Amino acid sequence: MNVDPQATRSMHDLDHKLARRVFDECLRQLSLDEVPLKTGGDRDRIAGRLEGLIGPSGNDPETVLSAFLRNVAPAILACDTPRFMAFVSCVPSKTSILFDLMVSAFTLHGISWLEAAGPVAAENQALRVLADAAGLPAGAGGCFVSGGSSGNLSALLVARDIGVSRRGGRIARPKVAVTADAHSSVGKALHVLGMDPLPVPTRDHRLTGAALREALAREPERDDVVAVVATAGTTNGGLIDDLAGVAAVAGERGLWFHVDAAYGGAGLLAPSVRDLFDGVEQADSVVIDPHKWLFSPFDCAALLYRDPPAAKAVHTQRASYLDAIHDDDAGVWNPSDYAHHLTRRARGLPLWFGLAVHGTDSYRDAVENTLAMARYAADRVTGTDGLTLLCEPELSVVLFRRDGWGWDDYEQWSDRVLADQVAYVLPTEWDGEPVARLCFVHPETTKQLVDEVIATIAPPLD
Ligand SMILES: *Cc1c(COP(=O)(O)O)cnc(C)c1O
Repeated sequence: MNVDPQATRSMHDLDHKLARRVFDECLRQLSLDEVPLKTGGDRDRIAGRLEGLIGPSGNDPETVLSAFLRNVAPAILACDTPRFMAFVSCVPSKTSILFDLMVSAFTLHGISWLEAAGPVAAENQALRVLADAAGLPAGAGGCFVSGGSSGNLSALLVARDIGVSRRGGRIARPKVAVTADAHSSVGKALHVLGMDPLPVPTRDHRLTGAALREALAREPERDDVVAVVATAGTTNGGLIDDLAGVAAVAGERGLWFHVDAAYGGAGLLAPSVRDLFDGVEQADSVVIDPHKWLFSPFDCAALLYRDPPAAKAVHTQRASYLDAIHDDDAGVWNPSDYAHHLTRRARGLPLWFGLAVHGTDSYRDAVENTLAMARYAADRVTGTDGLTLLCEPELSVVLFRRDGWGWDDYEQWSDRVLADQVAYVLPTEWDGEPVARLCFVHPETTKQLVDEVIATIAPPLD
């Protein structure tokens, strides 16, 4: 087939005009004082609105942009507003968003030292900030992956291979100690990796060294347990496991100690809660998502190993077409050697730029502000008749009950509050009952907003 050179060139004719249009729209979006929450759009009709847009001959870019602005961009629940409290949100700083545009414009990848020494060195600088916050040794390191799920999978692969080899390679189904409060991605990772969970019952949703020891004592196949996953900031309750206690038992039993701090890891920067993380410095691997609570755009999770060479031995892909990147000279650092990925964009750079521009103190203050708002919300709940706080928040999740309410009541509340554009909130389950859950990660959350949301669920005064 003959390719018409004119046709490929005409793709570039669009560039200047389109660039101006795209930058204008980005600037308009970034200049909003508050991003509107929106409602997710009319989900049944979205596909129909896009029908016919892609065909052999293309469209005027203006037509496609306007389809995007009218039908695609508004059909979301915006996560970058303080009113989004239903899930752990993503609230990137403007600085990091702008730099994300640069990462795209410069086509920056971060696969290997050979191809991308600069971006990798900068990413490693940002990883170092997190490793220092966790108190990991100077040799610790890793890479940025797409999310906590990917980080957990990559870390647990290393845990499995090292654990099995230390036990002479004779384990058919290795096991990993977990609690019911571990994130769903941990169960998924075990499934992918052909491992089974060893469920550790907990008394108050918190994994302790004693609970782990008891579960191991009861387990007939305890020698097959190769790792333990502790959570530093559970997704449902925002609680931090007893990391020091778990680390001690992991040390005694030769278990890989993985800390899933995907959501909570930002708290390492906050002096008011830092001591709750004691023991994290003993982790073999840690995952922290800057796209959750460290003001970075999607999709960015830091995966750190205490002993990077051990991880590298498991993850490095060997092939003749990759030989050139595997130069084992000191100083060579290939992010592709530390997770199950190969090609990756330099997704740690927006965090690096934000840290370098604003300084770590401003990250500390932003995290402290959300912690303060969660404590304020808990106080408001405690001070309101008919509402019951279910546990003191350790991080930025507040769980409470409207006395007498069932699932339907909470769901109607969620729908009503969204329809009124006050907030996006969802119920969850806690100790077998439906409860209200508010999750704060936006540093510009205000007391007025907290009051406004509590007022939507507080019983009327009689
Ligand atoms: C969100 C979360 C994950 C998953 O992270 P993704 O970035 O969504 O893949 C894992 N663990 C915990 C504790 C989380 O809160």
